[in-house]
Amino acid sequence: GARPDEDLLEGLNPPQREAVTYRGPALLIVAGAGSGKTSVLTRRVASLLRTREAWPSQILAITFTNKAAGEMRERVEALVGESARGMWISTFHSACVRILRREAEQFGFTKSFTIYDSGDSRALIKRLVKEHEADAFGLTPAATQSKISKLKNELADAESYARSANMSDPAERVFVELFGAYQRELQRANAFDFDDLIGQTVFLFRAFPHVADVYRRRFRHILVDEYQDTNHAQYALIHELTRPIGSDAPPLAGAGGMMIFEPDPADDPDKAGASLTVVGDSDQSIYAFRGADIRNISEFERDYPGARVVLLEQNYRSTQNILTAANAVISNNFDRKDKKLWTDVGAGEQIIGFTGYSQHDEAQFVADEVEVLRRTGLDYSQMAVFYRTNSQSRALEEIFIRSAVPYKIMGGTKFYDRAEIKDALAYLVAVSNPADEMALRRIINRPRRGIGDVTIETISRYAQDEGITFRDALANSSALGVGPKIQAAIAHLDAVLAEASEIMLPASGELAPPTAVAAGLQLLLTKGGYYDALRASKGAQDEARIENLDELVAVAREFARNNPEGTVLDFLTEVALVSDADDLEDASGSVSLMTLHTAKGLEYDAVFVTGVEEDLIPHRISAGEPGGPQEERRLFYVGITRARKRLYLSLAMTRAQFGEVTVAMPSRFLQEIPNELMHWRQSPGDVNSRGGTQSRALNARRQSGSGFGGSGGGQRYGDDLVPLPRSARREPGAIDRFANKIPAKVRDNGDMELAPGDRIRHDDFGEGRVDAVTGEGAKRVAHVRFDSAGPKKLLIKIAPISKL
Ligand code: ATP
Ligand code: MG
Repeated sequence: GARPDEDLLEGLNPPQREAVTYRGPALLIVAGAGSGKTSVLTRRVASLLRTREAWPSQILAITFTNKAAGEMRERVEALVGESARGMWISTFHSACVRILRREAEQFGFTKSFTIYDSGDSRALIKRLVKEHEADAFGLTPAATQSKISKLKNELADAESYARSANMSDPAERVFVELFGAYQRELQRANAFDFDDLIGQTVFLFRAFPHVADVYRRRFRHILVDEYQDTNHAQYALIHELTRPIGSDAPPLAGAGGMMIFEPDPADDPDKAGASLTVVGDSDQSIYAFRGADIRNISEFERDYPGARVVLLEQNYRSTQNILTAANAVISNNFDRKDKKLWTDVGAGEQIIGFTGYSQHDEAQFVADEVEVLRRTGLDYSQMAVFYRTNSQSRALEEIFIRSAVPYKIMGGTKFYDRAEIKDALAYLVAVSNPADEMALRRIINRPRRGIGDVTIETISRYAQDEGITFRDALANSSALGVGPKIQAAIAHLDAVLAEASEIMLPASGELAPPTAVAAGLQLLLTKGGYYDALRASKGAQDEARIENLDELVAVAREFARNNPEGTVLDFLTEVALVSDADDLEDASGSVSLMTLHTAKGLEYDAVFVTGVEEDLIPHRISAGEPGGPQEERRLFYVGITRARKRLYLSLAMTRAQFGEVTVAMPSRFLQEIPNELMHWRQSPGDVNSRGGTQSRALNARRQSGSGFGGSGGGQRYGDDLVPLPRSARREPGAIDRFANKIPAKVRDNGDMELAPGDRIRHDDFGEGRVDAVTGEGAKRVAHVRFDSAGPKKLLIKIAPISKL
C-alpha cells in the first residue's frame, strides 16, 4: 500500500527521497548550496512523525539560528499538523539552556542562572584583568576573552590548559590564573557564558551519566543542520547524546559488595543510541574563527561507523549562470571534494558587475537597481544586499534613506546592546538571580542615587564578612554603617526589587500571570526612578532611550502572548539568545541588508554582493590566518549561492574605511568567475593591471585634494594614476552624470530645524508633513507623510528637502 508519508516525498529527486526515508543509526547528507539540505531535513522530521516512528518529544532538531528553527517548526507543522508540538527544534544554545535550567542544581548552579553575553563576560574579564594586573603581560581583556572562548570550544578548562601550557612563561601563568578566576566568578554569580552553555552541558552529561541517560532515552532522533559549522564542544554534545543508554553508568555494587558489570549496552537493542542525521556542506564552512571544524563532517564516517552517506547535487535555487560562477570560484580551494552544482532551470541572466567611484556611488547603483527590479514586479522583500563588514552598511543606508528605498538591517540593530536596554535587563536579572552581583552593581546607581564606589565596596565587604549575598546585604542597609541618605536610597532600591520579585516570582507552585514580566519590568523602571531620570533630562538621546524602553516592555508583552506560561527566566533566555540573524522587526516589504555571515541558509530572488574588493573579501585580517583566504572564498561562495535569479557583484574604486580613504582593488575572486558569465555595467577597467601595487598604496585623499568632503567628489582622479572605468572614459558626459550622484555634492541640511507638524518639500516626493524626528546629529531622520508619495523616512542631513 501507499506509504503514510508518500505525499511528503512528492517532487523529491531520488537521493533526496533516500535522505528522507533512510532508517538507520547514522545518516550524513553532504551537498552543495541550495540542493535541498534544509528542506530534506524538515521532511525527514515530518516523515518520522507521520509514520509514527517517533513521538514529537523524541525529536531534537538543531538549526543554526532561532529564525531557522522557527521556520522549520512552521514547515513541519504545516506538513503534519498540530501533532508536531513538543518537538525540540532549536539552536545548540537554546537546547542547552533548556537542559541546564532543568539540571543546573546537579552541579552547584540554580535554575535561575544568568546567561552572560559576550559584553557581560567582557566586563567581568576586564575587572579580573585589572585585579591581576595582567595588562603587563600583554593580556588585554579582548585577547583574554577570545583565548578563553577558543579553549572552551575545545572543552578545555583552566586546569587542563595548565597541564599543556608552558608554565615557566609568566604570561601563561597569569592567563591560567585569570581563566580560573573567571570561571569561579561565573559560578559564584550563578551564571554561564555562551560557550559554557554548550561546554557545561557536555560536562554535566559526562559527570552524571544518569542525567545523560534521561536525555538519551528521550531523544531518539537527532538531526543537525549546517553541521559543517559545529565546533568541538557541539560535536561532543551530539556524541554524548547519541551514545547507547547506560553506556557509561558506573558499575553497580551488588549484594555483598560484589561488583556487577552490566552487559555492554551496545549489544542491547533497547539501549541503542539515538539515530543521528547531519547535513552540511564543507564549502560553506565560515565559522572557523569561532572554532568550527570541517573535520566534524569529513570524519563523520569514522565516528559513526556504518553511516549512510547521501549526496545531493541538483540545485533548486539558482540559475545555471550563478551556479557555474559559484563552482568556478570554489574550485580554487584545494583540499576539497569536487562537487558540481547543476540545475535544470536554464542559464538565466548574466551576472551584473558594477564599479563605482566611491562606496556612495556603489550604493547609489544598488539603490537604483533595486528600484528597477521593483518596477519589474519584484517585491522588496525578495532582494538582499550583502557586505563583508558591518561598517559598510552606513553608505548603503544613507543612500537608501535618501532614495526612499525601504530596508531592514538584519542583525545590525543591536537593540539589546544599548545601555538602557542592558540596564533594564539587569534589573530583571537582579530580581530573578540574586546571586548575580554584576547585575546588581550595574543598576545600584542607575539612575543616580548617590551610591558611589565607596558604598559599593562597603556593601561588598559586609556581604563577605557576613557570608551573605550582595543582594541580601542591600536588604540589611541599616547595618552597613552608611549615611542616612545613602541608606534610604539602598532601602528604597531593595524595596522595589522585593516588590518586583513578588510580581514575577510568586511562591513555588503558583504560576505568575502572563503579564507578570511586563508588569514587573514597568514597576522596576518606574518605581526605580529610571523613567523619571530620563524624562528630567533634556537630551534628545534620552527621549530615544525612553522609546527603546517602551519597546522592551512591548517585547515583554508580545512574549507573554506567545508564551502564556513563560516566566521571567524564559524571557531573559529568549532575549539573551537573540542572534545576529534574528531580527526584531518584520522584514516584509523591505530590502534586507546583512553581512555575508548572516546570509547563510537564506535565499532571495535578487542578491547584491557589495564591496567585492581585496582587503574586504578576502578581508585583510584573513591574509595572515592559516586557511584564511580559503575561508573567505567560502564566504563569498555562500554569498553568491543565496541568489535565485539575479546576482550583482559590485565594488568601489575608492573606499573610506579603516580611518582613511584608500584606493580599492577588485577582489581576486572576481577574476575566478569566467568572463562570459558577467556583464559589466561599469567595469573595473584596468585599475588592476595598470596601477598595480603602486596605485594601491596611493591615498585618494591626496589625489583629489580635499577628499570626499570637498567639492571635488570622488571622480577627479589623475588619469595617469587611477584610470577611470572604461565605460566612463568612452562616453563623454558620463563623469558629469556621475558627479550628480555623489552625495558629497548634496546640500547639507545638518542644521535644519524640523519638528512634528512642519511642512516640507522634497525634490522628488513633493510636499508633506513631518510626523516625527528621531536620531540625532548627522543621523537625524524625519518621518514624513507626503501628500501623494505616502510615508517615507529621510536622512535630514542629505535629503533634498526644504522647509515650507
Ligand atoms: P543551503 O546550502 O543554502 O543551506 P540547502 O541545501 O539547505 O541550501 P534548501 O534551502 O533546502 O537548500 O533548498 C533550496 C531551495 O530549493 C528552496 O527554495 C527549496 O524549497 C527548493 N527545493 C529543494 N528541493 C526541491 C525539489 N525537490 N523540488 C523543488 N524545489 C526544491
Ligand atoms: Mg540550508
